[in-house]
Amino acid sequence: MAVPSDSTHRPGRRHTSRTAPVVPPIYQTTTFELDDQSYADIQGTGGLHETWYSRFSNPTVSAAADEIARLEVATHGLMTASGMAAIATTLVTLLRAGDTVVASRQVYGDTGDLFERDLPGLGIDVVRVDAFDIDGWRDAIARHRPRVVYGETLSNPQLRVMDIGAVAAAAHEVGATVVVDNTFATPYCTRPLDLGADVVVESATKFLAGHSDVVAGAIGTRDRDLHEEIQRRIITFGGSLDPHAAFLVWRGLRTFRIRLAEAVGVATALADDLAAMDDVVAVIHPSRSDHPDAAVVPAVLTGAPGAMLTFVVAGGDERALRLVRHLEVAVEATSLGGVETLASLPFNSSHFNMTDDERLEAGILPGMVRLAIGLEGHDLLLEDLARAVKATA
Ligand SMILES: *Cc1c(COP(=O)(O)O)cnc(C)c1O
Repeated sequence: MAVPSDSTHRPGRRHTSRTAPVVPPIYQTTTFELDDQSYADIQGTGGLHETWYSRFSNPTVSAAADEIARLEVATHGLMTASGMAAIATTLVTLLRAGDTVVASRQVYGDTGDLFERDLPGLGIDVVRVDAFDIDGWRDAIARHRPRVVYGETLSNPQLRVMDIGAVAAAAHEVGATVVVDNTFATPYCTRPLDLGADVVVESATKFLAGHSDVVAGAIGTRDRDLHEEIQRRIITFGGSLDPHAAFLVWRGLRTFRIRLAEAVGVATALADDLAAMDDVVAVIHPSRSDHPDAAVVPAVLTGAPGAMLTFVVAGGDERALRLVRHLEVAVEATSLGGVETLASLPFNSSHFNMTDDERLEAGILPGMVRLAIGLEGHDLLLEDLARAVKATA
């Protein structure tokens, strides 16, 4: 007896409806039916502009990429399998052995590993400067004439602000390409491309997707040639995003603006609440006049001051750890940008591999707590924090 075939019909075209879906379908398919036009495109452009194999492009992935590009006022958007894939693919596209990159000292840990370990291993020189030191940026850029200049809008966890416009102006004088990681600030707070950056990279895992349920990355630019160069590397290095993950990103983006409005508002209010509490010895939030980069905040954070909030409790890291364990609303976890407020401590997470002295030198103070504000509302979070500060006095 013949084994019955699992699927005798061909989906795809036959299932195309006359009416359009409101939500993009999840094109959970690796491949697409080809026709003469497809072959012409594949032969003419290397397949960059045809939907024919999902490592090259996929309509669900493109839907998410286009939406993030719109938010970042980019003309071209790409998605990757993670934020690190976005960053690494962009850097390796732009840099060759013998090139120099001038990069911020205050970058995400794994990005720091790229600069300290992986790029030097490929014969690329890396010069580090402090994100907030505009004279340092100008000196390093003029002296080393780098191919690439790289920084983050807001640093972790001190939330230092990079003067993107001033750095980009210096970089463009020597023909460098400016890449900015806008993950902490998000396009709700600022659009780096509007300030002069050439490429914006983001961990879409965080505020863009917004629900702590998907790992993804995004790249935006207004330079079509550069966009295609990066797209080619996503294809050859293989860091393409899966369509199902892209759908979750797209779905999260539907509420991006109102999530960020809420979280930024609450972060701003809590910053002042915390500053007024006994035993809170410092509060870092770009909305506050005592922020060390307050002078450049209006020029950089043109939209809003951000939903990340850092504070320092008296009693050092031992108390900070007890405090976080007393929280009942905020969750003790790494990452950021989800609907739930997350609390983390630099000393045992992002900066665990430093000595106490190195942390001090880097401005990571004992007792520092990082909050990524979610959507629980101001009153509940204030009560939670106030209770935890009191309980650990
Ligand atoms: C999380 C993060 C990354 C890395 O993103 P993944 O999606 O985890 O790969 C890069 N930069 C910043 C600032 C981040 O917070």
